[in-house]
Order: sequence, then structure tokens, then C-alpha cells
Amino acid sequence: MSLFDKFQPLIDIRAELEQAGVMPFGAVTEKILSPTEAIVDGQRVILAGTNNYLGLTFEPECLEAAQRALAEQGTGTTGSRMANGTFAGHLALEQELAAFFGKQHCIVFSTGYAATMGLASTLAGPGDVIVLDADSHASLYDGVRLSGAEIVRFRHNDAADLDKRLRRLGERSANTLIIVEGIYSMLGDQAPLADIVEVKKRRGGLLLVDEAHSLGMLGEHGRGVAEAAGVEDEVDFIVGTFSKSLGAIGGYCVSDHAELEAIRFAIRSYIFTASPSPSVIASTRVALRLMQERPQLRRRLWDNAQRLYDGLKSLGFKVSPQVSPVVAVTIEDRDWAIACWSRLLQRGAYVNLVMPPASPTTDSLLRCSVSAAHTPAQIDRILEAFASLGAGDKQAVK
Ligand code: PMP
Repeated sequence: MSLFDKFQPLIDIRAELEQAGVMPFGAVTEKILSPTEAIVDGQRVILAGTNNYLGLTFEPECLEAAQRALAEQGTGTTGSRMANGTFAGHLALEQELAAFFGKQHCIVFSTGYAATMGLASTLAGPGDVIVLDADSHASLYDGVRLSGAEIVRFRHNDAADLDKRLRRLGERSANTLIIVEGIYSMLGDQAPLADIVEVKKRRGGLLLVDEAHSLGMLGEHGRGVAEAAGVEDEVDFIVGTFSKSLGAIGGYCVSDHAELEAIRFAIRSYIFTASPSPSVIASTRVALRLMQERPQLRRRLWDNAQRLYDGLKSLGFKVSPQVSPVVAVTIEDRDWAIACWSRLLQRGAYVNLVMPPASPTTDSLLRCSVSAAHTPAQIDRILEAFASLGAGDKQAVK
């Protein structure tokens, strides 16, 4: 037995794809032309799988702020937040995020993964219980596994099942950490947060919501599902990322619990990694401001999402249950999904190919994400690329 034996299934899939001349997980962006167009693997494509929801990656004000920080503060902090890596910009961004969410406390992390994994692994520990939505992101699963707490999964988006699981815990439910997302990353469906909060109020526990895909998307001010559902006061911890709507990299946690200020020094993904570069912090701060100043971006995003969703539906594709900036087409047959991904690229649309176990079921997904920066004509071109798949011989796609 070799250490490598367990990787054989992966090695086989990789060889199979290589032989077919398709490398969906290593597609190279050779030239980035705009937030919505690039040259990928030699093809000029419309980017329809980037999570660049508000299209802010080339925003002149963000670029200027990043360039200024780069010139004045250098390329990196070269240290952890707890050592030499806390600059004035990190603290300013923490204050600005806290103010935006109307919360007292905020921690900024180097990535969204560090934020979600860090909170999930630290808040509960051995002897505690974490109850999480079964479709939670890998970073949350990694965190809860590291925590040493007892892990209970409840059926995706099913508040009644959450209630049942908490009831079974008896008195322990009062000390449970409940974890859900806002908009789910793969299918784009939203958590029924008002129902989940109602269960939490009855059974006790603390609630953590990962709003990675809902920051800037939902609620009157773009604060996410918690704002849209009117339950922000009942959410104990909101975590999220700068790598999607804010067009950079990094993560955050906001809360009204004063304990968060001490807890930050127990979160290993905060302590044992270098802090975000000054240029990243600078562009994120501007993006956060622009997101608030330009609600029209959110409206454009939803118009585009609706256009893509309706278009794919009328072409006969099996799409996500809810309109959302994440629009996923479900394909049962894995090989056909790979072929479709490749054909879409050739026809000028880059989407994400998601295969099990990354997809929530045994099906594969052609996962699209729309941007406020897409024009309606670009959405139509994505739809034309999808329409060309339907003309193929394989009805499984429908
Ligand atoms: N949570 C969710 C729900 C995500 O989808 C992601 C990224 N895909 C993360 C956390 C991690 O964020 P980042 O990629 O910015 O590290």
C-alpha cells in the first residue's frame, strides 16, 4: 500500500480528461480584458463563472486606492495580524464593516476561507454540538471537523428538520452552534432565515450565517439574507468574503458579542497566517463604499440574473429552484457535463464545471454566476452558447 493509492480515482479522472483534451479544472485565463471578458485557453469568452457579482474588479477608484497603498505601504505586510501585520487600514476596514452591518465588532481575515473555517472551528469545541445545513460550504465542514465538537447535519434549507435535531439534543440545544449560508454557492438558493431564526429563538443556541454569496446581493442595503429576512439582530455571527462582490480577497466576521474581541486570539487561521496586503485592504475599502453608494449595481445584477435564469429555463434546462446571481444547470451524466463545459468554452462562454463531491447531489452542474457588469447582449450570448448544446444528440442535458 502506498500513500498515493488513495489518489488513484483522482489520477484516473485526470488522465481521462487529459486524453479527451479537456482540462476544466485547470483552465488558464491568459488575458483578462474586462470584468466580463477574457482569453481563456486561447478562446475569447464571456466570463459567466467568476463570482464578480458587482463587476468591481477594474473600478478606477479601487485600482487607484490599491496602487497608492502599494506604493506607500509595499507589496505585503509579511506578518500575522497578531504580530506585525495589523496596519491602520486593517483596523479602518474592520470599523467600516462593523458600521455597514450595524454591529459592534469585526475581524478581518486573509481569505474568506480563513474567516468561515476559523469561526466554525473555534466557536464550538469538544463537548459542544454544531448543527449545520447539510449543503454547507467545504470551508465550514473543514472548520467544524477541526473544532472537535459533535457534528449534526440537518436537511438542506429545512427549518423543521433543524428543529427536530435541536429537540433531540434536549438541554444541550441551548449551547449549540447553528451554521447556515445566505445564498448557497452551488445552486444559488437562499436559506429560509426567518424560519431558522424562529427555531433558534425557541430552542436556543448561537447562529452563524455565511453570507459569502449574498453580500451586496440581498437586502435594502446589500447586507445579505439576514437583512432581507429582517432578522439581523438574531444572527450572532455573520461571516463572508471580499473575493466576490468586493472583487478582492479576504474575509470578515461581524458580531455584537463582545467576546469576539477575545475570541479573535483563539482563531488559528487569524493568528498563524499573514494579514491581507495593504493594496487588497485599500481596494476592498473603496469597493465596500461603492457598493453602498451604487444600489443600481444590485438592480442590474438581478435583472441579469433574471434574464439568464428565464432564458435557460425556456431553453429547457434544469435550473436552480430560485432566481439568483448563481444560476446552475443540472446535468445527470458526468461525461456529458464535461463535454458541455468544453463546448460552451468553444462557443465563447466560460462557466464553472462542478462535479460530485463538490456538487450537492450525484449530478454535475454547469454553474453560471452573473455580474452587474454583464450587458443584456452578453447574457444573450451566454444563452446562445447554451442553446447550441440542446441541438446535440444528448437529451440528458434537458
Ligand atoms: N464560504 C462560501 C459559501 C464560499 O462559497 C466560499 C468561496 N467559494 C468561501 C466561504 C471562501 O471564500 P474565499 O474563496 O474568499 O476564501
